[in-house]
Amino acid sequence: MKLGPRTLLRRWRGAWRRWSLWTLLVLLVISMLATMVWLAGRYEASQVQTRLERDTADAVSDIRVALTRNLQSLQALHAGDPGQLAWEVDAAELLRSRRELVRIEWRDANLRMRTHAQSPYRPVAWDARIREGHQSDAAIACTNARRLSSPSYSSSYFQPHGDGLGSEMMELCLPLTSGGRQAGFLVATYSLQDVLINLVAHNLTRSQEASFTEADGTRLAVLGAARRGSRMFTAQHLLDLPGTTLVLRMDTWHSAPSLFPNVLTALVTAMSIALVTVMVVLVRDNRRRLRAERDLADALAFRKAMEDSLVTGLRARDLEGRITYVNPAFCSMVGFTAQELLGQSASAPYWPPELVDEYRQRQAIRLSGHHVPPREGFESVFMRKDGTRFPVLIIEAPLINAQGQHTGWMSAFLDISEQRRVEELSRASQERLQATARLATVGEMASLLSHELNQPLAAISSYATGSMNLLEAPAETAGGMPAPENLQDVRMAMQQIARQAERAGKVIKSVHDFVRRRDQAREAVSAQQLLDAILPLAILQARKLGVRVNTSVEPGLPLLLCDRTMVEQVLLNLARNAMQAMDDPEIPYRVLDIRVRRAASNQHSGWIEFAVTDVGTGIAPDVAARLFTPFFTTRAEGMGLGLSLCRTVIEQHGGFLGFAPHEPRGTVFTFTLPIFQPAPHS
Ligand code: ADP
Repeated sequence: MKLGPRTLLRRWRGAWRRWSLWTLLVLLVISMLATMVWLAGRYEASQVQTRLERDTADAVSDIRVALTRNLQSLQALHAGDPGQLAWEVDAAELLRSRRELVRIEWRDANLRMRTHAQSPYRPVAWDARIREGHQSDAAIACTNARRLSSPSYSSSYFQPHGDGLGSEMMELCLPLTSGGRQAGFLVATYSLQDVLINLVAHNLTRSQEASFTEADGTRLAVLGAARRGSRMFTAQHLLDLPGTTLVLRMDTWHSAPSLFPNVLTALVTAMSIALVTVMVVLVRDNRRRLRAERDLADALAFRKAMEDSLVTGLRARDLEGRITYVNPAFCSMVGFTAQELLGQSASAPYWPPELVDEYRQRQAIRLSGHHVPPREGFESVFMRKDGTRFPVLIIEAPLINAQGQHTGWMSAFLDISEQRRVEELSRASQERLQATARLATVGEMASLLSHELNQPLAAISSYATGSMNLLEAPAETAGGMPAPENLQDVRMAMQQIARQAERAGKVIKSVHDFVRRRDQAREAVSAQQLLDAILPLAILQARKLGVRVNTSVEPGLPLLLCDRTMVEQVLLNLARNAMQAMDDPEIPYRVLDIRVRRAASNQHSGWIEFAVTDVGTGIAPDVAARLFTPFFTTRAEGMGLGLSLCRTVIEQHGGFLGFAPHEPRGTVFTFTLPIFQPAPHS
């Protein structure tokens, strides 16, 4: 199929638009899904971050509570002015229970050491000189505390342990008053590492790390997990104490933060995959549907082209008899347009007015569904728009839809006017042919007739001559009158003349009868009647050729239904052919045998069989092949029409004509004719 550039352009545009829409949709869905995955990841990260911040805040508040409690415990050491020994015992006890404290000193108002206690867990080599120096952290804290008259912390510092290691420490200075006067200081030393271990560790999870840092990020003390996972979350919280501020920092690593951080993201991803799958399936389905649509359109176009190019008229009617469809061939057949025909029900415009009643009845019967239309169709007459009538062959069938329901009637129409004309022509020529053959038969008869008539005529003439002689012979007894014994002879001669004349008259009459009877109608006749009609003529020829004619009719045969004249001609033809086949000097004993009986076989039980048998020359195979061809003859004076006409006549009666060799010589021609079945009422 060749497509114009316009169609191509339109198709291309349509395809382009469809594809761009699909691409846009796919892009949108993919970006939406990516955003969702990203948001889910971010949400999860923020959850982790929030939890971490909360943990950090909790840890800071834990530390603060513990420091406040320690402060109270430290203050309690001095309750009720204890002696030095009692203080040391209490301080040692306190250090045992509070592991974050590593050392407690009791100093006088000038910051000189009065006594101290050390943590049993972490022996540290303290340099007393440095500790009591004015620039030491403890001194700075105490100066601060004195000024504020409240506890004060120092900033952290590194305290070497002597074994090459060390740890970050922080001092707390608590001013002691006695009677409103400055009585001394209590200096407590915190190990930052131990603060973390004792106050924060119990709340840490395995993936968390806690540390104290300086403002610039330098770590002072660290506690917790080594690095795990790939993504780190960090939270910082300030721990502001009087005199100093610490920063608590917590880090956590997320174990699998890459593609599926958690169930939510996994869920979203799974949904995305499902969505993409559904989309792919949809795209496929859509493509399949498009293909199906295209196929359907092609099939429809093909069907339409087929219907339009048909020469058979098509018409569909619904169950109410309304016309629901007509094809162009039907429209051109009747000369009405489809618009004029569609929806018509009561009487179609192509029905001839004189036949409307009959057709309406036929339609009513059809629509009632009781009568199934004949498969081979039926003939009817339609009228063109210009009023001319034409014969149509209608083939009707019920219209069954895809659900198997009977929804109406479908009819096909063939305009058979041309066929009719040809049939009429061939019928006329057939008739002419038959008439010719008949005349030919009569022509042949004429010579036989003359031969046959010669005998009675000769006899009559000789009898007449004899009579004259007898009458003219002079009588010796009575003067001039014929002798009485002569008169007796003359009477006898006259009787012979009358008999011969009667015989000649019979011969002429039989020929006359044969030629004159032209009525075509079929009638009921007996086989004997048929034989009687042809025998006189057959015997004429038989006598000339020296043939003996035997006839036998089975007794009790029913009547036959046939065109009498035609069948007589068939019988006569066969008899004549048979006798001609025996016209051979080598055949001294010539018999023509005509038998009539009921057809033997079952399927021909309603038939009567005629057999014409001769003992003639027989039929050679090359002759047999062309026997029924018109104008085929082996005789010089033959027409070659006899057998072909015989077969036509017999077949017109529904019968069968054939031949077979006859043993020991000769041929049997047989044909069948239907038995007359009287109608019940007649
Ligand atoms: P026609 O008698 O004018 O020749 P037919 O159609 O009757 O035409 O016969 C055609 C030919 O068939 C004959 O010429 C003859 O050769 C052959 N034929 C017909 N009947 C017989 C028969 N009984 N025996 C032998 N030949 C026959």
